Amino acid sequence: MRNDINDISEGNRRWQRRSEVPSSREGHILISIVVPVFNEYDSIRPFLTELKKALSEPDEKFEVLFVNDGSTDDTFELLQRLVKTDKTIRIIDLSRNFGKEAALTAGLDMARGDVVVPIDVDLQDPPELIPQFVAKWREGYDVVNGVRVDRSSDTIVKRNSSRGFYRLFNRLSHTALPENVGDFRLMDRQVIEAIKRLPERNRFMKGIFAWVGFRTCEIPYTRTPRVAGKTSWNYWRLWNFALDGMFGYSTAPLRIWTYAGFLLALTSFLFGAFIIVKTLFYGIEVPGYASLISVILFLSGIQIISLGVMGEYIGRIFLEVKKRPVYLIREVIAPETDDDDKMEHPVQK
Ligand code: UDP
Ligand code: MG
Repeated sequence: MRNDINDISEGNRRWQRRSEVPSSREGHILISIVVPVFNEYDSIRPFLTELKKALSEPDEKFEVLFVNDGSTDDTFELLQRLVKTDKTIRIIDLSRNFGKEAALTAGLDMARGDVVVPIDVDLQDPPELIPQFVAKWREGYDVVNGVRVDRSSDTIVKRNSSRGFYRLFNRLSHTALPENVGDFRLMDRQVIEAIKRLPERNRFMKGIFAWVGFRTCEIPYTRTPRVAGKTSWNYWRLWNFALDGMFGYSTAPLRIWTYAGFLLALTSFLFGAFIIVKTLFYGIEVPGYASLISVILFLSGIQIISLGVMGEYIGRIFLEVKKRPVYLIREVIAPETDDDDKMEHPVQK
């Protein structure tokens, strides 16, 4: 009994401690900005200009991690040139194009900051929001999400399909995905360490970010059009991305077939009973080709769909058990004077 009381008061004390702002959130910090780039030659310079404008607090050092996701234009050459004069830049050069999710994972793995901010290079995620993110983090939040309130720069089809996706996802999955939250957010070091512990190959980052939880708040922003270049996401790619999210975070599609099978079996049983009774009373009727063929076609359609759904999961199991790395790094390029001393900062976790 005594122990119980002790436990409760200890719990209360911990609770109080938790609700205060951790002292390590005051003073100097290092912010890691993680930027996946794929054929973004024209966007990089405007992006850096805006970023520098936004981050001018003396207390806040930052590093910009460009993850070159197998660009085929001169993105990498430009980054190499920039890193010579800009001490804040580091380049993680992947061995080929692994996709944005993998590139982000690489960036998060290499980031050294107390807080990490993934951001798109095309200025669709405004860097001037980062100081607000940091302010919220200093208040005690572990995750600060950027929420797109105005998506008028996206097409109507994209907006509606995206809304439909969030609705369906949140209905089917146990992990709630906040609507209109992209990858642009700030995460505490503790959150990054938690994310690193998730071993799955299917890097649906929105899902991963949402799954880990922690104290979260949101900051609204307006999504502007791309500064340069064009999006590499066509509808086919987005559709597959949505499927990855759906099948990766929910087993509901599998369960549908349990119910479908049950319903079909019940209907067949009733129909069978009806036929038996009918035969007993009225004798055998030969015609029946049309009903027979339609039932066969309907049932084979259902069977093939359910096989397809199972295939989706088996395919995913196959990819997971192979345990291939999510990305391969060809080279990491840091500024020459980038010794660890320079990066030393008072915040230690
Ligand atoms: N990106 C990437 N690998 C890819 C595709 C995109 O690293 O295979 C990067 C891209 O350079 C940009 C970010 O992901 O910094 C977002 O891409 P994009 O603007 O094309 O997507 P959208 O904003 O249309 O969703
Ligand atoms: Mg974009």
